[in-house]
Amino acid sequence: MADEERYHALAEKIFMGNSDLIPSLFEMIAGLEEADLLLALPGTAKGMAESYGKSEEEIQGMLDTLFRKGLVFKKETPEGTLYRLCRDLMQFHDASILWPEAPREYLDLWQRFMEEEWPAFSEIVDKILPRPVARIVPVGETVGGRQQILAYEDVRQMIEESGTIAVTNCTCRLTARKCDRPVEICLQIGKAGEYTIDRGSGREIDKEEALALLRKAEEAGLIHTTMNRAEDTHFICNCCEDCCMTFPLIINKKLHLCDPSRFTARIDEELCNGCGDCLERCYFGAMVLNDEREVVVVDEEECMGCGLCQVVCSEGAISMEVVREEDFIPT
Ligand code: SF4
Ligand code: SF4
Repeated sequence: MADEERYHALAEKIFMGNSDLIPSLFEMIAGLEEADLLLALPGTAKGMAESYGKSEEEIQGMLDTLFRKGLVFKKETPEGTLYRLCRDLMQFHDASILWPEAPREYLDLWQRFMEEEWPAFSEIVDKILPRPVARIVPVGETVGGRQQILAYEDVRQMIEESGTIAVTNCTCRLTARKCDRPVEICLQIGKAGEYTIDRGSGREIDKEEALALLRKAEEAGLIHTTMNRAEDTHFICNCCEDCCMTFPLIINKKLHLCDPSRFTARIDEELCNGCGDCLERCYFGAMVLNDEREVVVVDEEECMGCGLCQVVCSEGAISMEVVREEDFIPT
């Protein structure tokens, strides 16, 4: 197989055979021998060593390197540790960008992909996925009537009930560098946390630090997002409206790439003094100032239920109220 065909074949394996840049991304971090091994997976180090006529130690060393690069994932089986290629574009993106030794030009090439190819691809994702893979979680402390909020939509309870927690860099801010908001702030929970620590792509933190990071994210105006499944929390990402791979497309193109939370912001007009601080904080254009009454009004159709407006309201005029049923969150 010609050199470039290997990388194109790898792109095809993650359903990105039409991409110009995905083969180049593989080529930048996988040598020819590594590419051949990737194409031959899934398999164990022993099985791969037999088919390649190499020692098991040599193949194990290559698989360890590919695991650290985020190109392979592993699973324990009765036959030994089974390795497989990253499953799809999102796994390739999320895992390989967090390769601790990733060179800057690799991150820059991902950013080029995000600008040149991702918008068109995301329109297809928007059309074919019945529901987005992620959903917004409201700013935890701000949801009124704690009985209304479910454990899997309360960031603080998610942390309290989690096992291992790790913090990683935000893949989007690391590559895009469009704002100066915190980079080391995305949380991996449970098995995802164990995977992160095993790979060295993040560091283990305790619950106290995780809660402090959530608060830091809220104060920096970052939107909490998680898996769009009830009781299935692998991550709490903290997204901005400029670097993020999804929010600019939600805001500017109205693509349905992330579900709202079950909540909406409500304004107490008695308390609102019309200062307008919340307007800037709402990335979704869901708030307008009523000049005559000097109060802010929320457009429920546009409100994504992130709760960030409430963080900046010094008058306590904003509360979050449930507007969607519990079964809105997929099981
Ligand atoms: S920040 Fe609070 S007081 Fe100021 S306009 Fe918004 S809701 Fe009203
Ligand atoms: S009004 Fe805007 S900032 Fe407030 S919860 Fe809704 S989307 Fe978030």
